Amino acid sequence: MPYIITEPCIDVIDGACRDLCPVNCIYLPQETRLPREHQRNKMYVNPEECIECDACRDACPVGAVYREEQVPEAWQSYVAAEYAAFGLRQNVQS
Ligand code: SF4
Ligand code: SF4
Repeated sequence: MPYIITEPCIDVIDGACRDLCPVNCIYLPQETRLPREHQRNKMYVNPEECIECDACRDACPVGAVYREEQVPEAWQSYVAAEYAAFGLRQNVQS
C-alpha cells in the first residue's frame, strides 16, 4: 500500500522526501487537484504512482510519513485527503 504524508509535515514541508523519491510522486499542495481552500501546507503522495520504496519515511525529520495501513487513527483523514488530492478513491481493504 502507498505511503501517506500526515500532520507533522504541515508548515515544515522541507522537501527532503521529495528530493529522494525515485518516481517523483511527492507533490506540493499547489500541484495537486485540491481546491486552494482545501490545500494544506504539506507534501502529498500520489497513491497510484508510489512504488512503496520506503525512502521518504526514513528521510522525514518529523516522522510524518507512514505506510497507509500504519497511519495512526488520529490522522486517518490524511489518507482520504491524499487520494482526493489526485482525484482517486481510497481502496478500502477488508
Ligand atoms: S515510498 Fe518511495 S515511491 Fe513512495 S512516495 Fe515514498 S519515496 Fe516515493
Ligand atoms: S520529509 Fe517529512 S516534513 Fe519534509 S516534506 Fe517530506 S513529509 Fe514533509
